[in-house]
Amino acid sequence: MCFLKPAILINETAMKIIAIEEHFTSPAVFAHLGNTKASGIMTKLRDMGALRLKEMDEAGIDYALLSENNPAAQNLAPDVAIATAKASNDFLFEAIQANPTRFGGFATLPTPAPKAAADELERCVTKLGFKGAMIMGTSNGQFLSDKEFRPIFERAVKLDVPVYLHPSPVMPAVRDAYFKDEPYFHNSGLGFGLETLTHSFKLITSGLFDELPALKIIVGHLGEAAPFLLWRTTENIIRAGAKMPKALKDYYKTHFWLTTSGAFQDSALQCAITEMGLDRILFSVDWPYIDNLQGTTWLKKTPLSEKDREAIASGNAMKLLKL
Ligand code: MN
Repeated sequence: MCFLKPAILINETAMKIIAIEEHFTSPAVFAHLGNTKASGIMTKLRDMGALRLKEMDEAGIDYALLSENNPAAQNLAPDVAIATAKASNDFLFEAIQANPTRFGGFATLPTPAPKAAADELERCVTKLGFKGAMIMGTSNGQFLSDKEFRPIFERAVKLDVPVYLHPSPVMPAVRDAYFKDEPYFHNSGLGFGLETLTHSFKLITSGLFDELPALKIIVGHLGEAAPFLLWRTTENIIRAGAKMPKALKDYYKTHFWLTTSGAFQDSALQCAITEMGLDRILFSVDWPYIDNLQGTTWLKKTPLSEKDREAIASGNAMKLLKL
């Protein structure tokens, strides 16, 4: 006699997929966006249930860690940022409560008020169950390597949660000097990557990781080309210039975890694994800017052993984020 396996059992044996750079726009942040045109992307960003879950289901994504979309609360006046971040986090908490087996969250932080941002991170982790924070690049033009942001990182270490460093648009001075006549370079194809790669390296040369040896940073887009560049950073120019006890590469490999958001490229993945180690690579999509199904289709076929594929799909995230 032959029994068909019930669907639930088939699902239980399938590879679990967790995506961790999946965005939304809360009403609180939306209110600061000005004249935002209605668009398919904005419709998706503002959906916290049916539409989001449908696209997760179609792609086989079991669980998504949600984060406020750019620019989150990074470019607001300090007092406005504090209220906006709190409202965003409470909004996200409600969405998670409605679907606790499908959604988790990264905190939005009012970085223009660093001490309040540290307190908000603590509230989100200890009271709302969030798994860390995501910060959208610079805060009113300031990099997080500036000492005034140290309280945020100190608190992340105290709470033992990672900080996800996400791109923001390159600042106007850089944009004008580099891409005045090439607006198509401003965003995902080049500008975002340059901004976040620079930001990552500036965190290292600022001495942040000498002060906080347990700090964990997540970067998307497979590290914005960092794995490809690490060998070259071992030259003494950076280390000597920044007076660092170790090479930049050593800090990067110790403190950074990378995700696949919007970077579904076999050769880049292999480079990232080789440089960072398999346990440092986590799956993510970057929804709704990138299609979920494109991400999981790639994840299922990119050349990896099944054990390694499973680690990238969910195992590494479960470990790092204590899911
Ligand atoms: Mn993103």
